[in-house]
Amino acid sequence: MARDGTGPTVVGTADALAPVTDADVVVAGAGPGGAAAAAHLAALGHDVVLLEKEPFPRDKVCGDGLTPRVVKELLELGMVDEAHGRVDGWATQKGLRIHGGHTVMELPWPDLDDWPGWGATATRKVFDESVARLAQRRGARLHEGVTVTGPVWRDPSESRVSGVTWRDADDREGVVRAPIVIAADGASGSLARALGVRRREDRPMAVAARTYYRSSRADDPWISSFLDLRDAEGDLLSGYGWIFPLDDGTLNVGLGLLSTSKDFQGVSYRKLLQSWAGGLADEWETTEDNRTDKIRSGPIPMGFNRTPLHQRGVLLVGDSGGMVNPFNGEGISYAMEAARLAAEVVDGALTSKRTADLDAYDAILRQRWGGYYTLGKVFAQLVGHPTVMHVCTEYGMPNRPLMELVFKLMAHLTDGRPADTKDVIINTLQRLTPAA
Ligand SMILES: Cc1cc2nc3c(=O)[nH]c(=O)nc-3n(C[C@H](O)[C@H](O)[C@H](O)COP(=O)(O)OP(=O)(O)OC[C@H]3O[C@@H](n4cnc5c(N)ncnc54)[C@H](O)[C@@H]3O)c2cc1C
Repeated sequence: MARDGTGPTVVGTADALAPVTDADVVVAGAGPGGAAAAAHLAALGHDVVLLEKEPFPRDKVCGDGLTPRVVKELLELGMVDEAHGRVDGWATQKGLRIHGGHTVMELPWPDLDDWPGWGATATRKVFDESVARLAQRRGARLHEGVTVTGPVWRDPSESRVSGVTWRDADDREGVVRAPIVIAADGASGSLARALGVRRREDRPMAVAARTYYRSSRADDPWISSFLDLRDAEGDLLSGYGWIFPLDDGTLNVGLGLLSTSKDFQGVSYRKLLQSWAGGLADEWETTEDNRTDKIRSGPIPMGFNRTPLHQRGVLLVGDSGGMVNPFNGEGISYAMEAARLAAEVVDGALTSKRTADLDAYDAILRQRWGGYYTLGKVFAQLVGHPTVMHVCTEYGMPNRPLMELVFKLMAHLTDGRPADTKDVIINTLQRLTPAA
């Protein structure tokens, strides 16, 4: 198989998984992280088995927002082109409209050398399947409706993994034998837990809820965020709400609260979202009659909340390693970028046959995002206080240059060799801050 990154056109087998299957790498979970890892590894010529517990198309609770960081990964995978020709089922946007205090400000995605200047939205039903099918076209053996049930060890002392066990919908069981396992099974992190890797309490978490509404405003060229999130008593909450327009005439409407907020545990996310969206109905048509889906919520693990990211031949990718950006709750790009970096490290280790080389994965990711995530943790602690949140929105929002800097910081979008002083400030802060 070619190693030129263009990807072979072999279609992965849809045959039932044999009770004992051998592979170079087995990937648990075909979300954006697992599917991207499988696509990169297959393009590098490796025999990859990708196991997904749900059959596609499957839903995933999400805001459906794809920032320029995701677009960059899609460019790397050859899924979109620079000119961002229209992709079926996707809508593209110019940037973010922020509502806060008494100000509404439109901030285009930054014009940078290192990052594309556009973002998109797509339901996870559409998006996740498209990445998984790409992996399959590149030769990864995707098996849907197959749940990974645990690690298999090479020796009784459990010093190294040698594959995973699985069960399918017909209760058939089996094993995929592989020297390297990628755990991309999402926030539940079941494989990581089976290894004894616990969630780190010193890292921020969020919970977010979302639903969909039919609306004539679904052609909005901006994604919107709302910083004035209030409870039934009108008190400011530490979190934010969003309205992301979709290609199918609906809006993805949601809100999230940080674990540092005092309301994090006690609040009913369903009620809060219903009443918040109801308050915006005049402008956005977000009435109960226009709601097209249930309100569903999910956890958002942030700032590397499971470490180490490699141990005993298992690499954690995406939510299973808690890689969501603490500033804005974005996790798709981090899962996909980690997948690409994991594939490079795994490729090296399979070539050198030195499993110790896999430790580089943890080091590379911490070096790349560790300082930023530490800043994000401080940010989460600060905005956990509603007064700080209030002062920031009330006095910060009207200041456009300040908001441009904050936007770049929160979206994690700067050039490596900056021409803009805002980038210099952000890059320096990240570099000087100890890694999470
Ligand atoms: C309400 C909400 C809104 C969000 N909004 C955004 C947003 O707008 N933009 C953004 O970038 N991020 C957003 N996020 C975060 C984003 O959804 C995640 O960070 C992202 O999905 C992580 O990708 P992943 O591949 O690591 O995990 P997942 O997308 O969770 O994929 C994991 C996959 O593994 C499968 N799986 C699980 N267990 C097993 C098993 N044992 N065996 C086999 N398969 C298994 C699952 O079925 C799933 O397909 C949001 C999260 C929430 C909760």
